[in-house]
Amino acid sequence: RPKIGDGIAGIVAKTGQPVLVADISKDKTYYKDFEEDLKLGRPKESILCLPLKYRKRVLGVVNLESKTSGRPFEQRDETVLSILANAIAVSISNARLYQLAITDGLTKLAIHRYFKARLEQEMSRARRHQTTLSLIMLDIDHFKRLNDTYGHPEGDRVLVQIAKLMKECTRDTDLCARYGGEEFAIILPDTPRADAVAVAERFRKKVESTHINLEGDTVSVTVSVGVADMPLDRKLTPAEFIDFADQALYQSKDGGRNKTTIFEALSGKV
Ligand code: GH3
Ligand code: MG
Ligand code: MG
Repeated sequence: RPKIGDGIAGIVAKTGQPVLVADISKDKTYYKDFEEDLKLGRPKESILCLPLKYRKRVLGVVNLESKTSGRPFEQRDETVLSILANAIAVSISNARLYQLAITDGLTKLAIHRYFKARLEQEMSRARRHQTTLSLIMLDIDHFKRLNDTYGHPEGDRVLVQIAKLMKECTRDTDLCARYGGEEFAIILPDTPRADAVAVAERFRKKVESTHINLEGDTVSVTVSVGVADMPLDRKLTPAEFIDFADQALYQSKDGGRNKTTIFEALSGKV
């Protein structure tokens, strides 16, 4: 990752203007240390560097080196490739906006609507490939009490902390979502029930043992968790699947909280 202002890419990032160097071996403008750059594999031929610009903001640069024809880049290349660079910049910008739209502002986890769309996708995928899929639902215990004692903003800080722990206990391929106020969900693709229970328990214990500082007090919270896995022998709707995990979660609440329950005709507590 070159520094802004350093080398051709860095200069293009800084100025937002394309740079075309027909013969790099003759260039003395863009490289601070010619010898060093040669050692680092500085291109020996032609270079065209274009900004990825959207609404006057530089999102990145595209660096093109040494045409396969061996001929130097020309003004015409710059014109054509600038059009592509603009299209790329629009796509990146759209992707960022989309990311923002599906992310909960407070916890940075996925929002409810995206969770539901992803659950539906993952259920179809698991059915198609006959793979495992698990779902975890969880809810903070006695959160109202904590809010009442320390106030809503401090409660918010706890939610952020819980979200962070959730991320730490899961894989990148899992989806952590804020299901509602202080209720969360995790989709675990390719994960059999036993593994999902292990994740749930690891997370539950981690929450229990984490001390959060609220207005000078050291506070620890607990969560109640429900785990369900998708049966492959019948077609379940996403709503039914959520309901399974939710039933297990409420079994944990009824059983005294700070527990993980597996949905299995509501039998086993762990
Ligand atoms: P239980 O153990 O049965 O889950 O008890 P609880 O108090 O956690 O459950 P309840 O559903 O009665 O209360 C949830 C509380 O969560 C009430 C609401 O004030 C709080 N809450 C919901 N969303 C937010 C939020 O975004 N920020 C904060 N600070 N509090 C929230
Ligand atoms: Mg609660
Ligand atoms: Mg709740």
